[in-house]
Amino acid sequence: MVASEVRALFAVASRPEVVSLAGGMPNVAALPLEPLGELVKDVVAEEGAAALQYGSAQGDPVLREQLCEYMKLEGIHAAPDDVIVTVGSQQALDLITRVFVDPGDVVLTEAPTYVTAINTFTAFQADIRHVGMDEQGVVPEELEEALVRAELDGRPVKFFYTIPNFQNPAGITMSAARRTAVVETCRRHGVLIIEDNPYGLLRYDGEPQPTLYSQGEGNVVYLGSLSKTLSPGLRIGWALAPAAVRAKLVLAAESAMLSHSTFNQLVVRRYFRKFPWKEQIKAFNGMYSERRDAMLSALTAMMPQGCTWTRPEGGFFVWATLPEGIDAKAMLPRAVTERVAYVPGTGFYADGRGRQSMRLSFCYPTPEQIREGVRRLVGAIEGELDL
Ligand code: PMP
Repeated sequence: MVASEVRALFAVASRPEVVSLAGGMPNVAALPLEPLGELVKDVVAEEGAAALQYGSAQGDPVLREQLCEYMKLEGIHAAPDDVIVTVGSQQALDLITRVFVDPGDVVLTEAPTYVTAINTFTAFQADIRHVGMDEQGVVPEELEEALVRAELDGRPVKFFYTIPNFQNPAGITMSAARRTAVVETCRRHGVLIIEDNPYGLLRYDGEPQPTLYSQGEGNVVYLGSLSKTLSPGLRIGWALAPAAVRAKLVLAAESAMLSHSTFNQLVVRRYFRKFPWKEQIKAFNGMYSERRDAMLSALTAMMPQGCTWTRPEGGFFVWATLPEGIDAKAMLPRAVTERVAYVPGTGFYADGRGRQSMRLSFCYPTPEQIREGVRRLVGAIEGELDL
């Protein structure tokens, strides 16, 4: 395990004068705090003894029922017994890797992919191999090739990790045809799919796509999270897994943490019962789509020739690629001097690729700050181009 090389720069980037297009922090300030405070107060007053006691490692049964209702919005029909609550979906990633991966085992991921998933797989000494994407998502022929190559190498592939909706960091959504092909390919090779879907309900335009889980039941572990649609501070995520996998995840969770935060689960349970949570998701979508639009139009208006970027239909991220010869990581100090921050692309690959690219997030700054941030970013790029 190693600390991120750019962490020191991010300390500078968190100064108020810097527009940060770096972090993926949801804008929780948009939540109405007063009614949420009432919910917390009611939990203490009415269920205090239970809320302050240990609970199970699989998670509160009523909350699991509510999470099944939540997943219906994604077209998933699941039973509460099939769900294990986790400390954010990050813990699910950790538990799955702990259960499946021995040092040297192959884990396949999209290229690029979520940085903390890479860190988790690396911590368990996985051999991470990337599979290419285009604007339709992961390329099934490349997935097939990677699976065959690992088989020829005599190396077991433990799973294929994918973020099919508004991918972090690429902002790409996998098309319906690709989803079918990916499920079919992995089934043919007997390889499990980990479908990580924290952003699925944050769609600003286009049509929702079917989950991989609904097509590949029995061969897919689905990960959900309330971090982006409610709050990351509550640390509520979950995994929906075939029975044999789920049993092992529960055992691993018991040894990792004994019990969930009963308190947080009861707060969220009450939130689902008492709060217009679907309206809240709609309100988040309105706010984030405005920010996405502000970023895309600022990029179109200002980016120099030779730059390209993705156009996400939802989520938090745009992936931008700079003209040949510009190194996004080397440019970061100049950008921070210009008072703007982003995440250089290299962090999203396990093999050092991504130097020409960067992740730009639009979730946290206001539309005005986003426009100013892009203006400063363009200043840094033009400086590198010596314009
Ligand atoms: N997966 C992806 C793709 C993410 O972007 C994130 C959050 N940045 C997570 C998992 C982890 O989220 P949490 O643990 O807060 O649920």
